[in-house]
Amino acid sequence: MKKNCKMCKQEFNGRSDKLFCGIACKNEYHHKLRKVNSDATSRIDSILHRNRSILLEIMGKNKTRLTTSKMVLDRKKFNYTYMTGYSINNQGKTYHHIYDFSYMLFSSPKVLIVRKK
Ligand SMILES: [Zn+2]
Repeated sequence: MKKNCKMCKQEFNGRSDKLFCGIACKNEYHHKLRKVNSDATSRIDSILHRNRSILLEIMGKNKTRLTTSKMVLDRKKFNYTYMTGYSINNQGKTYHHIYDFSYMLFSSPKVLIVRKK
């Protein structure tokens, strides 16, 4: 079956499920795809990593629960826009997850930080 390589566009003979003329084009394609993907995600990844570092710094290594002023997070330029997930407890309050950490904002303005061990 004649088809065109997804990478170099040259015609080649191959099974219908083959996309590339050879291993070099296949590797190059996946390398470029990884690069495009990491360019698009690295900025947000570093915000999430930074947020986790801030929570870890505030909590310390051994605590699993801490209530503090929201100002502490604000001063460290914590970014509230991004999180890895969220859940709502039975009182309707939202936990914002940052990997193994979670925080909950109160109007006081206080923040509860918990860490899953
Ligand atoms: Zn090719």
